[in-house]
Amino acid sequence: MSDIEEILSGVHLFRTLSGSEIEKLVEDSDLRIVSPGELVIKFGQPGRFLGVVLSGEVEVSETGEDGEHHVLATLESGEFFGEMSLMTGEPSCADVTASQESRILMIPYYICSRVLAERPESVTAIVRMISTRLRNRRVDESAALRVEDAWKAASDRYGLGLTSSRPAKILVINCGSSSLKYNYYDTLDQSWNREGLVERIGSDNARLVYSNGTTKINWELGTIDHDAAFEAMVKILTDKDDGVIADLEELTGVGHRVVHGGSKYSGAVLIDDDVIREIDELSSLAPLHNPPNLAAIRKSIALMPDVPQVAVFDTAFHQKMPKQAFLYGLPYRFYEEEGIRRYGFHGISHNYLALKAASYLRAAYRDLKIITCHLGNGASICAIDHGRSVDTSMGLTPLEGLVMGTRCGDLDPGAVLHIARANGMTIEEIDSMLNRQSGVLGLSGISNDFRELEESASQGDHYALMALHVFCYRIRKYVGAYMAAMGGVDVLVFAGGIGERSPWVRGLSCQGLADMGIDVDDILNRSAIPKNDEVIEISSDSSRVRILVIPTDEGRMIARETIRSLGYHSTTEMIRSRKEKEIPIRFSVHHVHLSTEDSDVLFGKGYELTCRDALSQPGLFCCEEMVDLEGPRGTVKGVTVYFPPRAVTQVEVSHSDESELGIRAPIRRSGDTEGSPGITLRGPAGVCKMKSGVIRFHRHIHMTPEDALVYGLKDGDMAMVRTGGERGLIFDNVLVRVDPDFELCMHIDVDEANAANVISGTSGELLGIHDRR
Ligand code: ADP
Repeated sequence: MSDIEEILSGVHLFRTLSGSEIEKLVEDSDLRIVSPGELVIKFGQPGRFLGVVLSGEVEVSETGEDGEHHVLATLESGEFFGEMSLMTGEPSCADVTASQESRILMIPYYICSRVLAERPESVTAIVRMISTRLRNRRVDESAALRVEDAWKAASDRYGLGLTSSRPAKILVINCGSSSLKYNYYDTLDQSWNREGLVERIGSDNARLVYSNGTTKINWELGTIDHDAAFEAMVKILTDKDDGVIADLEELTGVGHRVVHGGSKYSGAVLIDDDVIREIDELSSLAPLHNPPNLAAIRKSIALMPDVPQVAVFDTAFHQKMPKQAFLYGLPYRFYEEEGIRRYGFHGISHNYLALKAASYLRAAYRDLKIITCHLGNGASICAIDHGRSVDTSMGLTPLEGLVMGTRCGDLDPGAVLHIARANGMTIEEIDSMLNRQSGVLGLSGISNDFRELEESASQGDHYALMALHVFCYRIRKYVGAYMAAMGGVDVLVFAGGIGERSPWVRGLSCQGLADMGIDVDDILNRSAIPKNDEVIEISSDSSRVRILVIPTDEGRMIARETIRSLGYHSTTEMIRSRKEKEIPIRFSVHHVHLSTEDSDVLFGKGYELTCRDALSQPGLFCCEEMVDLEGPRGTVKGVTVYFPPRAVTQVEVSHSDESELGIRAPIRRSGDTEGSPGITLRGPAGVCKMKSGVIRFHRHIHMTPEDALVYGLKDGDMAMVRTGGERGLIFDNVLVRVDPDFELCMHIDVDEANAANVISGTSGELLGIHDRR
């Protein structure tokens, strides 16, 4: 046994591991030798490793508000650090620095989780440490603030940099009707990243354009079909001189862009036979796109049967849009029977842009209201409220919304009927006119390319200028509409070939919006043409809304989603392998958390609330006291008040309360009330008018760190839970909340429970996770 293995076998956490298991653990980990003063982990760095000090000494320290360096702990041989992030997914909340020459074993989290899942004694040991710190955080405000600061300091909070502790080689494929675009990403060494494009598939002069890392290469392919295009890509990727892999089986995963995921997919999914069948069925909604996407998937599976394949949908990001935004004013049966609704597209891009904007602003994506404008040949706008797409301009097809290069965008359907009748046009002719002869091309009669349009407009061409004005006015109108949809906006993003490169379009689209908080700095705007993944800010100092130009990167986003899906899949497998998956279900009914000031107003100054029953969340009680809620439409009487008081009053209502009261409350996690509607509270001693604070609570599971470690879950994960046995209903988007004092149970809205026929006292089965913050 080496001395490393000997030290590890003495570490409490690994005491029960056999000699060969310890040997394997060491083999899978990284040994770091650090000199005195060398930083091992930086404040804000993503937590990816459990560090075990083998020899020497390291200091865990923080820099206080006073700028002073405070040592929190000194760790010696056999002690470890990084256990907190393993549990919470948080970045490091301290600096770890060597105080002597030291040897440190960096054990990747995925290896730790595997070890922990099989050893209850190790779980107990680590949970004891974590629980003490989590409890401390509740009483020590500065510790909680430090976590927030660590998140702000994190340079790649949302994993867009594609670096991971588990090395991954990801191939991304975007296969269209006449082109095949690919990206290859190596998360260990980005200098191996590659991209290429096979274009003009189906014509007699197809070619592959790619770079071998230094030079751009054109490879003429003659007449080829999709299969041959795929093989050309593989040939280059595995080429002895220009390639990056020796064999396709080296790949960790393949991510496929799939245009239409219908109502079924709200996230990326590991491809199996069912997924293939569903993508095929959805071809009726996307006849030009899903078939080539599917052809690439089939070819990819045939060539690499053992490599996991992931479908990343362009519609998925918009699947959480509320019904009020996605329904057309048509007879409801068209939606129910034929799926006629707004789906939205460019979701991969909109999601990337919002994450990138939040990373750039060092802000939490889930705290922001963002409007993203993806302006390319196809163009769409998206309203992203607290991390969720709440509206987008494209609809059932990519024809709705903005005026585009050759597509008309929003149109009175009556105009279509009239044109068809008056001109005797067939459906096909109308289809072609709306998709290929309209937009700025149709308006200007010149081009769909904005470089040519701008050139002609500069030379005085009236039609080109008019087309530009129509294009930008439509964008402006949507920005205003989405500000109304979200009750404001914090960030406005421009992207896509036009959004990234046309200051003229950006300027015109924001013109006249200064009073609404959108104020472009003309000088910054004129010179803003970002390179690579650069973000350029073009808002003036006085602009309330931050305006950003961001090059979109769908390939990177697909790779990120592929990596994450593979991660969710292994967590899901871990959950499946456990026998104990039952989670008791409790119903949550409407209730009110009052601030002390509001409690004084409603019940009288200094009134002490009477705690009645303890709730499953420790320290939380429901009180004897009740209040009435008065909304614009009606009143809900006798709503229980919870104890203890909160800093801000929050009201949690059910779906049926919403209609009684005549309000629409957003579904949010507790404490996140920004932009929510207000209401009037009436108590025996007075009345409070809340400006905001009414939410419908997010269904969630409470669990202890122990449960979380055993299941491989983290605080903030989104889980799937089946209720009512094998043939029951599956709830997704169930938020996982971890606290040492929680009791394992799932809370769902009473209306939701009724709709799903879930009876009180039953339990649900944890199936897996589908999202992680
Ligand atoms: P796609 O939607 O096909 O991905 P892009 O996002 O690449 O398209 O956008 C392509 C469009 O961007 C071109 O058709 C052109 O209108 C516009 N564009 C490219 N460069 C410029 C430029 N320098 N100025 C204005 N518009 C540009």
